[in-house]
Amino acid sequence: MRCIFCKQVSDASKSVQHIIPESLGNKDLILPPGTVCDSCNQYFAIKIEKPMLEMKYFQNVRFRNQIKSKKGRNIPYKTLFPHKEGGWFDMYLLDHSLAFSGDDSKIISLIKDQKINKMMFEVIDQPLFPTANVSRFLAKTAIEAFALKAEGKSSLLNEIIDMHHLDSIREYARYGKGRFWNYNQRRIYSEETRFEDPVHLPESYEILHELDFLIIEPDMYYFVLVIMGIEYVINCGDPELDLYKHWLLENDNRSPIRRFSERIIYKN
Ligand SMILES: [Zn+2]
Repeated sequence: MRCIFCKQVSDASKSVQHIIPESLGNKDLILPPGTVCDSCNQYFAIKIEKPMLEMKYFQNVRFRNQIKSKKGRNIPYKTLFPHKEGGWFDMYLLDHSLAFSGDDSKIISLIKDQKINKMMFEVIDQPLFPTANVSRFLAKTAIEAFALKAEGKSSLLNEIIDMHHLDSIREYARYGKGRFWNYNQRRIYSEETRFEDPVHLPESYEILHELDFLIIEPDMYYFVLVIMGIEYVINCGDPELDLYKHWLLENDNRSPIRRFSERIIYKN
């Protein structure tokens, strides 16, 4: 077995690879040990995913959607109580209550005595754009999405490893080689959106994340990733997005990932 990034033999590797970080609620999109070797896995965890999860938007989105960390912890967020005895606190949203870090007795009694009737925290709608961090995360995730489509078949995995037109994006993800890869970022639905799709599913549902490829010309793959309503698109062949932008114009700006049978039934 070989690693889809560094192409080295990876039979001894033990870690599964989460295509989207566990800390963003991903439990099912994973690759078995060795698909990404332990050393590439470690590299991505420390150099790409950790700094990305520390971006203000991702902290904020995890807080407001109560997505727990890998270790099951709730994510705190700086919250302001506008009162002379109030101030800034790290607030945790728990299932049916609130908690604050440090000595919170004063703030709790102020709330109980109804002296404080307002608390404020920032809502950050989208990640800072564009950043090298998100761009390299998308490059990494695109290569892993190819491997996911191979469903563990070694002949297909070998094909992906030997696709030379994917080497630039592979090396950009793993080694930061070459120039910055452009990507597109936009919100396509709110975090609270519910969907229904009578053709595919009987019940209404929410979408945490989804991914697919848009193929505009043969061998020209655009990777499309949606996390909590924000769509990110990167070209797997080169750092430019011209054909995709043209495709958007011709398709009324619809998202390539939305199924025609799928309808929005509720949104904020
Ligand atoms: Zn590797």
